[in-house]
Amino acid sequence: MTVTDSGIDLAIVGVGKIARDQHIPAIRAGGQFRLAATVSRSGGVDGVENHATLDALLTARPDITAISFCNPPQVRYDGARAALEAGRHVMLEKPPGASLAEVQDLAALAEAKGLTLYATWHSRHAASVANAKAWLADRIVREVRIDWKEDVRVWHPGQTWIWQAGGLGVFDPAINAFSILTEILPVPVHVTMAELFFPSNCETPIAAEVQFKGPGMTATADLDFLYEGDPMWTMAVTTDAGTLILSQGGAVMEIDATAGAEWDVQPGIHGEYPALYGAFAGLLADGAREVDTRPLTLVADAFMLGRRVTVAPFHE
Ligand code: NAP
Repeated sequence: MTVTDSGIDLAIVGVGKIARDQHIPAIRAGGQFRLAATVSRSGGVDGVENHATLDALLTARPDITAISFCNPPQVRYDGARAALEAGRHVMLEKPPGASLAEVQDLAALAEAKGLTLYATWHSRHAASVANAKAWLADRIVREVRIDWKEDVRVWHPGQTWIWQAGGLGVFDPAINAFSILTEILPVPVHVTMAELFFPSNCETPIAAEVQFKGPGMTATADLDFLYEGDPMWTMAVTTDAGTLILSQGGAVMEIDATAGAEWDVQPGIHGEYPALYGAFAGLLADGAREVDTRPLTLVADAFMLGRRVTVAPFHE
């Protein structure tokens, strides 16, 4: 592995919204990695070596041993497999693939080759998620209500891949909620029923209602991509000993409607991507892998069990 004075040499594949907003600032601030190159069809980043294809990067830069995939899920598998085949360590944006089988295949390949594969879930690093998990650890969960609602025109402008098969539609943000749910609950959950609302001109749903069950508990998720105004990224967990509410995507936590003084209360997204790169560096140092497919399984099961309803066409 090439470690320079400023960290492990790393390349990014797909320089779009999330790479520019979060990955590149986190890499530059973190100190564990150095952005040594990009793979971008649209030119990449000023001052950083760019390759038009992943094959070109793999051939030209055998010294770059860590590759972070920030492109949409439908086009990620072939590149991630090629990177692992070429002996590189791989980090994947969420969702880790367009299907479960893809991700399982990558995990098996990484294990066989002794490489790191890190399937990231950035929302698990929101400020209050660890505290929520700790608070729930010794409580009995009765009920969960998830409201994950945002305006797709504001948060995903021009992202046509979201509306194409494999792009998940409203489940692209909702999988963040499912990543938090599977992280904080002390018991497993599975989908029992779903209603999926597909615009007549789209291949993915614009809204959904999902029901879940776990031992002694039920959960519901109300998901909406046409929700105007401030987004609602909230999860309420009713237990035998009080109700926990996580809001602002896991940043803020309240117990019985009181924001406890001992808890982190930091509105907004802070530190999620620095934490991801810190975790990737830790996995590389330990020669380890982290691939948790539970959030993607919940989405896949919602598609498998969901009743489909056709609604008005969506035009951005
Ligand atoms: P995006 O801006 O629409 O696309 C990312 C980049 O991927 C594009 O700029 C392009 O990079 C490359 N790309 C796009 N379509 C492609 C195609 N058909 N074939 C090959 N490359 C393609 O998407 P994004 O918002 O950054 O999201 C990327 C991933 O990050 C998704 O899995 C998403 O769920 C996740 N994510 C997004 C956000 C967010 O707020 N947007 C937040 C967290 C996670 P080049 O032009 O450089 O080739």
